[in-house]
Amino acid sequence: MKIPVDDIPQSPKEIRFSERIEDLNEAFVKGNVRDFRFPPLLDVDLVYYRSGHEVFFQGSLVGELEGCCSRCLESYVFSLDSKFDFVLSPDPPKSNQKVEELSREDLGLSYYSTEEINLAPLIREQVMLALPTRPLCNENCRGLCGGCGANLNHEACACSASVEDPRMAIFRTLKVGR
Ligand SMILES: [Zn+2]
Ligand SMILES: [Zn+2]
Repeated sequence: MKIPVDDIPQSPKEIRFSERIEDLNEAFVKGNVRDFRFPPLLDVDLVYYRSGHEVFFQGSLVGELEGCCSRCLESYVFSLDSKFDFVLSPDPPKSNQKVEELSREDLGLSYYSTEEINLAPLIREQVMLALPTRPLCNENCRGLCGGCGANLNHEACACSASVEDPRMAIFRTLKVGR
């Protein structure tokens, strides 16, 4: 989605659109870790307006993503439903760039430098920020057995049965003694 800067009103304007985010899949494969799979499109609700030279954006992302659980390594589907907001300032003249560079980081501002604001990279950035840092198929996921690699959500493996629980030893002794 691209928005011509001249069309941005002072009173909040609401739009809804679908943004293509499938190239995030490529970005993630390059990183060698495939923690997430992205759908081709994500729904974006966006409210934007200008105040002076600054443009304010507030919105939410809604879509279904696939994650790879960090405990059991199985993929699972989860819905992304996250809110975001950011502000864009006009790109400063070159001479001010150094000084501005500092305040930009301080304020978390980004710039627009063209007649048109291309939302695609900004939306992609928001998607990345909204991802869980440690994907889990379920809060209670039992993960994989460190011994045999069995998925403990689906099966109880032999390793766990043979592990001696010191609290049980007393009962075993009693049985033997009977
Ligand atoms: Zn899991
Ligand atoms: Zn095991």
